[in-house]
This record gives sequence, C-alpha cells and structure tokens, in this order.
Amino acid sequence: MSDAYKDLFSFIKKTEESQTIESQFLNDLDRTIQLSNHSHVPSKSIKPSALGGCYRHQWFMLTGAEADPSKIERADNITIAESGRDRHSRLQAYIMSAQSLGVPIEWLDPEEEVRKIQTIGINTSVKRRDGHEVLCWNEDYQVSFKCDGIIRYRGIKMILEIKTEDHFKWIQRFSPEPAHKLQAVLYSICLGIDTVLFLYEDRNYTTRKAYKVTITDADKDQVIQRITHLLAYQRANIVPPEEKGKCIYCRYKSICKATGSSKAYTLEELQKIIAGEGNEVK
Ligand code: SF4
Repeated sequence: MSDAYKDLFSFIKKTEESQTIESQFLNDLDRTIQLSNHSHVPSKSIKPSALGGCYRHQWFMLTGAEADPSKIERADNITIAESGRDRHSRLQAYIMSAQSLGVPIEWLDPEEEVRKIQTIGINTSVKRRDGHEVLCWNEDYQVSFKCDGIIRYRGIKMILEIKTEDHFKWIQRFSPEPAHKLQAVLYSICLGIDTVLFLYEDRNYTTRKAYKVTITDADKDQVIQRITHLLAYQRANIVPPEEKGKCIYCRYKSICKATGSSKAYTLEELQKIIAGEGNEVK
C-alpha cells in the first residue's frame, strides 16, 4: 500500500470511530473498491482520446515521460468507469446476437476486418482482444486504440463507437462531441472505413441516441497533419510549447513545470531540423 493510502486510511479510521455502523460499512466498502483499483501505465503512443488536447501533453505520453503520482481515485469514479465498461460489453453482445434473432444488424469480426485492410496497405494490426473489443496498433501514426466494433447495417459498413454519459449531458446531446468526432476520424484512418456510428447511452436510464457520421478526406487530412506535426516534434527531440488553457485533466503537470517554456516550430522547421539542416533549440 502506498504512503498516500496509508495516511488517508489512518485519518479516515480516526474520524470514523464516532460514525454509525452503516457509515463505517460504506466507508469500508469504498476503501475496498479503491484498494482494488490498479493504476494503468499508458503505452508510448498517440491516444485518440487526447488528440484535440495539448501537443505537449501528447508528446509526454508519446515519449513515455513520468506522469504525476496517481491521486487516490474516488470510489464513485471507479464504479462509474466499471459501469461504462459493463454497458459496452452488454450492448456489444446484443449487437452480436441481432442476426440470429432475425434483426438486420450484422456484427463483423474486427480481427478479420483488420486482416482485410492490411491487404490494401493500411498498417494496422490487432495487439489483443479484450472482451468483445480489439486493441489495435497503427505503425504509421504510432496510434494505439480500442475498436468497440465494426458492423454492417442497411448495406453500410460502419465503425461502432459507444459512449456512456451523465443523464444531464445526454439530454443536451444533439450531435457527437467534437473531441469524439476527432477520435472517430483517427479510427477511420486506421481502419479504412469512412462511416462511424456513435451510440450514446444515458448512464441513468440507459436510453440511447445514435449518430451516423461520414468522415471526409478533409477531416482525415486535418488529423494526419496534426499527428505528423506531433511525430516531428518527437523525432526532432523538441518539446512542444505549453497550452495552458488545456491543463485541467493533465497528468504531466510536474514534468511540464520542470521543463519550462519552449518555442513553437512549424512542421517545415521541424523537418529541416530532423534532416540536419536547421538549428535545434529546445
Ligand atoms: S500541464 Fe498543461 S501545458 Fe503542460 S503538458 Fe499538461 S496540458 Fe500541456
């Protein structure tokens, strides 16, 4: 057990002595949930969910920089995430069984689909299966991503992207979140499929909304440009500048502060530095 946990739990133990048995039980249950939660070390890769965020944050992930020590996650946040994973799995199982029930939704095996796109030159492979999902890797863009599913519906092949969200956010949902759309563009590039079906489920009532999005060449060019720029910063070994308006959920605040300010470079400037024609200034 880490020192942070020991300190917190001894503090809780002292304060809870005056509490009812019910409160003590709830505190102990939360503590068990927290102790069972293992922090995840992200792989050195581009993360689709971070694509719209700070360049420097993504650079730290891509280069495997040391993240801030994990704070103790609230038990409720851990169980909300578990609930989201459970809902993904159940919805995927329903979709997989649709055809056997005479419903015209076809679930396509994602590993088989990845094998097909490799034959047309897309450099994506399956790293492993995780339940009904597959964890994929794209070598050209250094992207690691999970694919929720690939389906064919009414003659259209689509990437399935499931999201669960808070009821009040869900009732205000009239289109996919811009950051989710950016994520979907990257899936489209890596899977060679230009249609994405977003399935948003309300966390309280489990009611659903769906949005079909067609990914255009302009969308793909914008994302490829962004990744190419980021990879050029990595190859030139230059830390991108801070984007201080995007710091709220960043786990690299300590290393970012220690790094200090840095200059922004255009892609062309970085390419010259990589080719040995420019001045490298970190
Ligand atoms: S702390 Fe802010 S500026 Fe620094 S890497 Fe994180 S998001 Fe970017």
